[in-house]
Amino acid sequence: MKYIVVTGGVMSGLGKGITAASVGRILKNKGYDVTAIKIDPYINIDAGTMSPYQHGEVFVLKDGGEVDLDLGNYERFLDSELTHDHNITTGKVYQSVIEKERRGDYLGKTVQIIPHVTDEIKERIRTVAAASGAEICMIEIGGTVGDIESMPFLEAVRQMHAEEPEGHMAFLHVTLVPMDSQGDQKTKPTQHSVRELRELGLRPDMIIARCRVPLGEGAKSKISMFCDVPPEAVISAHDAEEIYTVPLQMEREGLSDYLMRKLNLSVFEIRTHWGEMVERMRRITGEVNVAIVGKYTNLQDAYISIREALKHASIECKCAVNPTWIESEELEEKPDLIEKLDRYDGILVPGGFGSRGTDGKIRTIRYAREHNIPYLGLCLGMQLAVIEFARNALQLKDADSSEFSNTKNPVIDLLPEQEELEDLGGTMRLGNYEAEITLESLAHRIYNKTTITERHRHRYEVNPEYIEKIEAEGMKFTGKNKNRMEILEIPSHPFFIASQFHPEFKSRPGKPAPLFKSFVEAMIEHKNKKEL
Ligand code: GLN
Repeated sequence: MKYIVVTGGVMSGLGKGITAASVGRILKNKGYDVTAIKIDPYINIDAGTMSPYQHGEVFVLKDGGEVDLDLGNYERFLDSELTHDHNITTGKVYQSVIEKERRGDYLGKTVQIIPHVTDEIKERIRTVAAASGAEICMIEIGGTVGDIESMPFLEAVRQMHAEEPEGHMAFLHVTLVPMDSQGDQKTKPTQHSVRELRELGLRPDMIIARCRVPLGEGAKSKISMFCDVPPEAVISAHDAEEIYTVPLQMEREGLSDYLMRKLNLSVFEIRTHWGEMVERMRRITGEVNVAIVGKYTNLQDAYISIREALKHASIECKCAVNPTWIESEELEEKPDLIEKLDRYDGILVPGGFGSRGTDGKIRTIRYAREHNIPYLGLCLGMQLAVIEFARNALQLKDADSSEFSNTKNPVIDLLPEQEELEDLGGTMRLGNYEAEITLESLAHRIYNKTTITERHRHRYEVNPEYIEKIEAEGMKFTGKNKNRMEILEIPSHPFFIASQFHPEFKSRPGKPAPLFKSFVEAMIEHKNKKEL
């Protein structure tokens, strides 16, 4: 196993995750099997309890792991499926060290950061990397060098470097090269940050410099000299308009030549689909406008997978998709804004929790349903479509979800088995579950399969007691997992479909999620009709 450790310096938010994922993609393009581990030095066990408002989206893996959004980038860039073990947090490490201590595994010794915590970290990294069956493992250490939290992890990879054979580990350090008012690129912060890394016993093999414009020769040779790496090991990672071009850009900078030499790797196959995908992206001509009505819309990271899934579909349909993020509470305060939804070619209501903003979303869904605007509802966006339909088509005015009120008509409710779990501390239905698809439905035309597997993250379900009544009025459930409704659609509407699962988590560049692709197709059709 070859390991590539990616650390960050100067400041957070440099796009270290995208950089690391891009390095992985480059090596994958050379024919290698690449996996990734994201280390998050926070004490939370996982991202499941974190507010997307503060931390961005909670990404859900096939095994139900609720993880940092960087894992989503790895899955998209590497086109792989990871498990919750690929996200190592301080919380997880300490939890198992403490459990071992309680079991007496440490035979009465004083349990310390070195060696017990660092051993635990190394063991986790090696086990996960081996279990993945890959040849190369990217290890991204969250935060910036110098943070107290990341110290044990940096020490663990330092030890690993001493233990692994020569040529099996490479260290990439991502730093910022800012520009002063004269337009000069300043290398001092990089020098300081590399010095800090050296004090911890780590020596970077390559420096990846984030900068606004391509790194000049002067700055490059300064970094090379002061940081003790050859000039070809200093890579310019200047701002890119589109993240999927980053691997190509870094490759043009010669990243893989040097890195592969360091790791004694040779090119044995060139996979080009990434370059072709980026080419297709450049050839996009038409455009459609989609309104995304949600809650955390001023923080776009909260819906990063949806944004990417729309992009994947857009590349495939050769049509740009321009999203407008609309705060649902704004639609509640200014109801006349609803009429303005008419200007969009499609409406998407994403997942969410809690009752805030649900009224605005329900009004939005009603508008899409009554005005024949293509609608895609995801998770909460499906539950609210049921509530809207029950209120306005079935005339059950108090229809609601028991997540939001104690209504007499809980069309969205906990199933009895879920209720038992709730009593034990509130468990969500997470990760992969299958759904059976009804023949000759829109869902069947979209997936062209009778059984699908998609990722979930929810507690509540469509209440089976209302299904007959709802279906009699024209909303059909065409994807089911026993008594759980997975997909709904309205056959009399040009395109109205919603899923209890999150198709966005499985969407990949070059392999868009079927629901997103057909949604974009429906938007194109809607727009063409409008223009006639
Ligand atoms: N709040 C809803 C539930 O728990 C929907 C969750 C979601 O949209 N991810 O079932």
